[in-house]
Amino acid sequence: MSERVFNFNAGPAALPLSVLEKAQKDFLNYQGEGLSVMEMSHRSKTFDSIIKDAERLMKEVMGIPDGYKVLFFQGGATLQFAAIPLNLLPDGASADYVNTGAWSKKAIAEAQKLGKTVNVIASSEDKNFSYIPADFSVNPDAAYLHITSNNTIAGTQFQTYPDSGSVPLICDMSSDINSRKIDVSQFDLIYAGAQKNMGPSGVTIVIIKEELLEKSPDNIPTMTSYKIIGGKDSLYNTPPTFGIYMIKLVLEWIQEAGGVEAIEKINRQKADLLYSAIDKSNFYRGTVAKDSRSIMNVTFRLPDEELEKKFVAEGLEAGMIGLKGHRSVGGIRASIYNAVPLAAVEHLVAFMEKFEKANG
Ligand SMILES: *Cc1c(COP(=O)(O)O)cnc(C)c1O
Repeated sequence: MSERVFNFNAGPAALPLSVLEKAQKDFLNYQGEGLSVMEMSHRSKTFDSIIKDAERLMKEVMGIPDGYKVLFFQGGATLQFAAIPLNLLPDGASADYVNTGAWSKKAIAEAQKLGKTVNVIASSEDKNFSYIPADFSVNPDAAYLHITSNNTIAGTQFQTYPDSGSVPLICDMSSDINSRKIDVSQFDLIYAGAQKNMGPSGVTIVIIKEELLEKSPDNIPTMTSYKIIGGKDSLYNTPPTFGIYMIKLVLEWIQEAGGVEAIEKINRQKADLLYSAIDKSNFYRGTVAKDSRSIMNVTFRLPDEELEKKFVAEGLEAGMIGLKGHRSVGGIRASIYNAVPLAAVEHLVAFMEKFEKANG
């Protein structure tokens, strides 16, 4: 294939072309230093300014108020499923979780595996995770409330976040971080694997209220300790240096594009285009409640599985990859993260219309 494809992968996912080009340009010889970022000491002055820039840009782009730290972990969002209860859920206390899909379930299971007490205060499992539950109440004694902002597999998304009162709110934003403007001060901890909206896999962003750092017990694994990793500004051991550098480039790209507000506008345009194509057709059928639709992962079905297979195969021939739904759900999923351009969605919608005419 000589051209770049339209990339609808769920994760790792599309990165902005200009970011890849910048990284390519600097790949062998970073800013005239004669070596690659990958070959540099994580203790060097150059890398120190890269990681500090990444933290500063994250604060600027996301509008993170004073009193929070931005940390970089390895181990994916999945390690945070364990790190959160290890650090913030003492034995004898309990935490509230909202179960909105496969990733919430994994977060719950990981806490339980550690012998922690979890209350699932709301769930949409009764309808195959096709909606975001509303009207649940948070236990005032809970150590925290955990939610999954965007459900990458099911294709649902919290449109507004729950008010957890004085209970700390913790959010897995792996698949929608920086896709829309949010009020960070609502949250005590936000985490996100980079490989959907922020960079390559191998690095996880953790945004944490500084006052929480003190809560980490001393007897937990070092690499899960917010106190230790936070106390060393993510440089306790060798961090994922190249991934952090890529995050910095992605954040610069967001700023150059006009910030999260401008990105959100395009994201909504992309999602509207796709959902209206689904809604006006009797051939395509959305799989989630309209008031819970994700602007990042658009899931839909065709009349039967044979047609879905054909859709994916012909889509590939038309230059689009990643359209097959997650194996647990089936159907079609188009992941339209920040770096997926409007033109890709327009291409998909045109293809959908043609496909329906030929097969409907
Ligand atoms: C992809 C994803 C994860 C898992 O991330 P890893 O980095 O692979 O551990 C967790 N939560 C959500 C919402 C995701 O989209």
